[in-house]
Amino acid sequence: MRTSNFRVVPLATEIADAARRAAANGAPDHAVMTADAPDSYPCRHCLHWAKPGERVILFPYASIPPGRPYSESGPIFVHAEPCERYRATDQYPADFRNGRVFRAYNSTHDMIDAQVGNGSEPEAVVEKLLQDTETAFVDARSVTRGCFTFRIERL
Ligand SMILES: [Zn+2]
Repeated sequence: MRTSNFRVVPLATEIADAARRAAANGAPDHAVMTADAPDSYPCRHCLHWAKPGERVILFPYASIPPGRPYSESGPIFVHAEPCERYRATDQYPADFRNGRVFRAYNSTHDMIDAQVGNGSEPEAVVEKLLQDTETAFVDARSVTRGCFTFRIERL
């Protein structure tokens, strides 16, 4: 177990619960689907891949709020059933050591740097981005599909 100088910020429970309510109410932008592969449906709340057979909700999430040049909304999954929010926030999530790109933003939500994770040591990439004092937070995204996965803040 390594101790990091950053903190992982999973999706807020209120947002996951709101997505579950919206899906239950049939919101057209909240799609319920069943995971059919082991490493294809990352839940942003518990930060685990949904297991085949588990139901997930796909919905749009504004990781960077509206009104800024880098404003961004994109599709994310959460488990359709309640799951426990990722708690080991001082440790990089084991399920997402591969296939992430890390984008550094300043305090006004401008993207100031981006690095592809090299797989074995994503912590080193994150720590390098955080060494820039301008960096306010780092967003981990899928390197292939670009979808927001989780946020990282300084401790
Ligand atoms: Zn989950």
